[in-house]
Amino acid sequence: MTTTPRALVTGGAGFLGSHLCDALLAEGYSVIALDNLVTGRLANLEGLRREARFEFREIDINRPFDCGAVDYVFHFACPASPVDYAKHGIETLKVGSLGTFHALDVARQYGAKYLVSSTSECYGDPLEHPQKETYWGHVNPIGPRSVYDEAKRFTEAVTMAYHRYYKVDTRIVRIFNTYGPRMQINDGRVVPNFMKQALRGEDLTVYGQGNQTRSFCYVSDEIEGFLRLARSDEHFPVNIGNPAEFTILQCAQLVLQITGSTSRIQYQPLPQDDPKQRCPDIGKAKALLGWEPKVDLPTGLRLSLEYFRQAVRDEVPSPL
Ligand code: UDP
Repeated sequence: MTTTPRALVTGGAGFLGSHLCDALLAEGYSVIALDNLVTGRLANLEGLRREARFEFREIDINRPFDCGAVDYVFHFACPASPVDYAKHGIETLKVGSLGTFHALDVARQYGAKYLVSSTSECYGDPLEHPQKETYWGHVNPIGPRSVYDEAKRFTEAVTMAYHRYYKVDTRIVRIFNTYGPRMQINDGRVVPNFMKQALRGEDLTVYGQGNQTRSFCYVSDEIEGFLRLARSDEHFPVNIGNPAEFTILQCAQLVLQITGSTSRIQYQPLPQDDPKQRCPDIGKAKALLGWEPKVDLPTGLRLSLEYFRQAVRDEVPSPL
């Protein structure tokens, strides 16, 4: 008799965490999702309520936790948008450090495999372009973004240490800007902001001149990259992102085109330490995992449109 493998997903109610839960269930796992709901939302797990192989527990992993034996730990808990981690700076640092120790302790205790979400923010405002995994980054350790950047760099350091000292079977994915359904409409990130503004007929707020670049990966591509990395034996970080690079102004124009909105562009000040360019070199993911993204930005925005329309409709107007 074969037993169902059991996966634990920290941050399971988040945007990426919840999509990962769906994918793991489809792969045949039973899944236990943990979240303290600081930025995660139960609405993201709505579709799984009647799934017998799924369980949600509201747990803060900054304290030690134990949910019984598991075969795989996916450590995805962390505020991830600049607005969220600015608001929850201390929690971000704690989950990157304490939370990571605790997630790794679970993997070590049960001999489970482990995959952690890291970020292109490890590269900071990069001086190398596109960014390869071998680049050590250009990060301001005391700036407003440091609560996230340094938390994730520390997360990577702890993960490698558990691998080296305790032989935990670890993996690290460096995620580049990912978008799609279930993003929180008010998380301040560029795609939800522009979609919301365009659908409401408000001005699109482009920060700076809009010539800074980002490379946007649709969520289904990103999740496929996670699954492939999870099956691999690679312990060093792997970039998973879409190398098609857009300026923020181009992104705004695309959103206007796809929503059919007549909104205008409004230029606002560029936030401090906003990276000027971001583009993954995905040579390693291609060679190692046979992975590359399939969904381009216009297609992904079209696929997300109905979700954002509904999210805008559902939004409760803020009291005056
Ligand atoms: N941005 C913008 N207008 C917005 C939100 C974001 O111009 O309403 C810019 C932001 O300054 C950055 C880029 O879009 O250059 C991506 O921002 P986001 O917060 O999505 O993620 P980041 O890649 O900075 O973590």
